[in-house]
Amino acid sequence: MANKLSGMTLAPLALSAAAMDNKSTNQALLSIYHQLLTHYGPQNWWPAEAPFEVIVGAILTQSAAWSNVEKAITNLKSAKALSPRALRQLPLSELARLIHPCGYYNAKALKLKSFAYWLDNHHADDLNRLFATDTNHLRPQLLSIHGIGPETADSIILYAANKQIFVIDAYTRRIINRLGLAPDSNSYAAYQALFMNNLPADASLFNEYHALLVCLAKNVCRRNNPLCQQCCLNNICRFGSVASVLTY
Ligand code: SF4
Repeated sequence: MANKLSGMTLAPLALSAAAMDNKSTNQALLSIYHQLLTHYGPQNWWPAEAPFEVIVGAILTQSAAWSNVEKAITNLKSAKALSPRALRQLPLSELARLIHPCGYYNAKALKLKSFAYWLDNHHADDLNRLFATDTNHLRPQLLSIHGIGPETADSIILYAANKQIFVIDAYTRRIINRLGLAPDSNSYAAYQALFMNNLPADASLFNEYHALLVCLAKNVCRRNNPLCQQCCLNNICRFGSVASVLTY
């Protein structure tokens, strides 16, 4: 995906544990992005046919593997239930049955219905109307809906509305911490500010960056036994350099 950084090349940087100034942090984040993009290539997120499907996926993926979310969405499509109106009309138990593969199906059925009713009540089921809302107002609106927290709201804003916001998840926190770039606070807002205050405001960059971090975390920077020797960030990672020393 083309973004403001396409075509730029940056040399790898050595990251320090201490707080870095804004310029150093900016360079470090850009270097990480370019190394990930060079290694893995564009991720083409979000894997969905339409914005409403992105929203449903963002809700269903909470505490669930994406492969199971895909099964649930396939069930919804087969039942012609992948629309706000259909979700409202479906009995709660039937909706829970359809999304059973992604776990927490009773709670998630309620969340889907809550969003569908909210969208009708506030925006007449019109996603274009919803997405025309400024991000500073859109985000608190989404957060007011039952079952939508910061990560889900930001996934909707970035991947469905195509607006500039960085999504933070457990994968992102893990990688940033291991790289030695953790912010002073452990809050969602602090991690989000790390990216948004130090990168160009570019939705396609934020889209690709988050997807690449997820790719790295799933394939290499695993919670247990990360494969640091195979990692494309090994040359700039504090955790990776310590792990390499311990390995020899
Ligand atoms: S070098 Fe190891 S700890 Fe660092 S990002 Fe790569 S896999 Fe994760």
